Amino acid sequence: MTVYECSVHTHADWCDGKNSLAEMAAAACAAGVKHYGVSCHSHTPIPIDEGCVLDADMTAYRKAVLDLRAEYEGRMEILLGLEWDSQSDICPEGFDYWIGSVHYQRGDNGKYYCADWGEDHFLRCRDELCGGDSLAVTEGYFREVARIAAMKPTILGHFDLITKHNGPGLLFDEENPRYIAAALEALHAADPKATLLEINTGGMARGYRTTPYPAPFILREWKEMGGRIILTSDAHNADKILYGYADSVALAKAAGFERSSILTLAGERECPL
Ligand SMILES: [Zn+2]
Ligand SMILES: [Zn+2]
Repeated sequence: MTVYECSVHTHADWCDGKNSLAEMAAAACAAGVKHYGVSCHSHTPIPIDEGCVLDADMTAYRKAVLDLRAEYEGRMEILLGLEWDSQSDICPEGFDYWIGSVHYQRGDNGKYYCADWGEDHFLRCRDELCGGDSLAVTEGYFREVARIAAMKPTILGHFDLITKHNGPGLLFDEENPRYIAAALEALHAADPKATLLEINTGGMARGYRTTPYPAPFILREWKEMGGRIILTSDAHNADKILYGYADSVALAKAAGFERSSILTLAGERECPL
């Protein structure tokens, strides 16, 4: 068993993925994956999410994934998952696993500011909500991460997504003590026994980052907390199912991890890095 046999943070054209479920599964199987999880985005009431997330009624989605599971029986396990957004209006229940992710923070003004979609959201959040204070944007983001972490998701998704458009510090200083304190406080809201922290290469695959999420200081703290990790690609394309796993292995080892978890239909397993 190796980490390369598991990929459970993936999207398909049921949400904002570029390929069909059938194409994604075929690519996963061809890449040697034995435990493939589908984790399309949960429905939210946010207008700009329309067309990029699942319907609130997920009956057809569940059926499509379970039909695929039957088709691949004996060759590759297919897990029914969900990437549950913190602003979602549905319950993440009835899945093999769920990924708890923050993509937005909602201001007192009722507006949603996205961490994912571009730096313009960050700048509007800074100016409309935070009085021009960039670090306050990151503190708001991590308050939302803490809220989701406390719900004990199977996997805590792209923990520091707020860095996606930051490059070499374009929007805020990732070494500022306020930033570090906010991130660590959110991390401590997670239960290391209940939740896996993912090392996610999605930002790399799409050219926004040169390293996976999360930053090394977060991984080191998680290790200190006795936390467990899982490698994911957040693939939105069939050719990215195992993207950057070697970088994630190196990052995990540098933080002191020797093992990574994988998800299977029979439960969680650990394998060496
Ligand atoms: Zn996400
Ligand atoms: Zn995702």
